[in-house]
Amino acid sequence: MHHFQYKEHELFCEDVSVAGLAEEWGTPLYIYSYATLAHHFRAFDAAFREYPHLTCFSVKANSNQAILRIFANEGGGADVVSGGEIYRSLKAGMNPDRIVYSGVGKTHDELDFALEVGILMFNIESTQELNVLNERARLLGTRAPVSFRINPDIDPKTHPYISTGLKKNKFGIESSASIQEYRYAKTLEYIDIIGISCHIGSQITETGPFVEALRRIKSFVHELRREGIRIKYLDIGGGLGITYDKETPPPPDEYAKAVLKEVQDEDLTLILEPGRVIVGNAGILVTKVLYTKSTSEKNFIIVDAGMNDLIRPSLYNAYQEILSVTSFSQEKYVADMVGPICESGDFFARDRLLTRPREGDYLAIMSAGAYGFVMASNYNSRPRPAEVLVDGSETHLIRQRESYEELIQGENIPPFLLSEPGTSRSS
Ligand SMILES: *Cc1c(COP(=O)(O)O)cnc(C)c1O
Repeated sequence: MHHFQYKEHELFCEDVSVAGLAEEWGTPLYIYSYATLAHHFRAFDAAFREYPHLTCFSVKANSNQAILRIFANEGGGADVVSGGEIYRSLKAGMNPDRIVYSGVGKTHDELDFALEVGILMFNIESTQELNVLNERARLLGTRAPVSFRINPDIDPKTHPYISTGLKKNKFGIESSASIQEYRYAKTLEYIDIIGISCHIGSQITETGPFVEALRRIKSFVHELRREGIRIKYLDIGGGLGITYDKETPPPPDEYAKAVLKEVQDEDLTLILEPGRVIVGNAGILVTKVLYTKSTSEKNFIIVDAGMNDLIRPSLYNAYQEILSVTSFSQEKYVADMVGPICESGDFFARDRLLTRPREGDYLAIMSAGAYGFVMASNYNSRPRPAEVLVDGSETHLIRQRESYEELIQGENIPPFLLSEPGTSRSS
């Protein structure tokens, strides 16, 4: 369900014309629907209402302040993977005791920052990290609430780059070693064991892998309790998939039902870390057709967005639906839709049957709300796009387009290079 629909022949975001937004704010442009974001969060959170739980939105999926604020207002928390994400979450109004922190490579500075602000839980991924955290907590005169992230060795049947719960992946603690980790953690003076966590991957389109992982973790919780180690929080990560093309992922209530069936008799608080399922279909990237050209091999639609703006097709060979913003033309042809970046991997669609556009037409790249802007870069010295949030008939600019000045902000030419041309050392 999302609020990007045609009215007559024109694509709208809620009550606002997408073409109008593109005219007003320029392209490439990220557009998000507030109604869709709020609805997705509420539907997900409500699916777990019978059981104690905290929905921590996965900030890496979309970290714009305005978007984080929506979920903070809805009573949600944040799942973060860096100090920068903690900073953003706090600035957006997230309560620190609703922040959980995962990641294999937390630095000393990041750990200190998280300890100082007092987050809910550190999801620990190695003994080395645990030792460092214990020491940082000692130095700061505080205690660190932890869970271990267990690698349950489950195949989530998704793209290899986004599967995280297999033995060969870098994430988590091997299940066979976890009991020793907990015993060891118990001996550390500045560590409080409060939970257990796992996150097996992303864009998962069936409940099976979630249930399988959960069963392994659950039997492990029992084992820990037999040893007198009390687990309060069970963090089951994120990873629920969405429909980009023809996928049929379980809707949140079906996912919740499968999860709750496993934990209903347990005295636990669930932590959920949805990312993509909340924001993925709540955002689009609008781009303008610059040129259409045909070679003896192919037809190309060259647009003003590039892989630097939305990298999913290039990085994962991911499918993103392409819609015409105004659909007067019915003529279809097979074409590659490509960006202006100097890389052959810079494409949004290849050999796709698309409506034949004219130069100057706007195209909408659908399902761009998750892992879209957050993965944007300045490659080819391209300023990153603007982002707008639509609420009914109102539009709010939530990130202005970057300027050329911002591109070189923070760079510095050392004085020795500033002598007259022809007098530098190398000449
Ligand atoms: C990326 C990530 C998530 C969110 O994954 P989605 O597939 O976007 O739901 C949740 N938890 C952790 C630890 C992650 O790394």
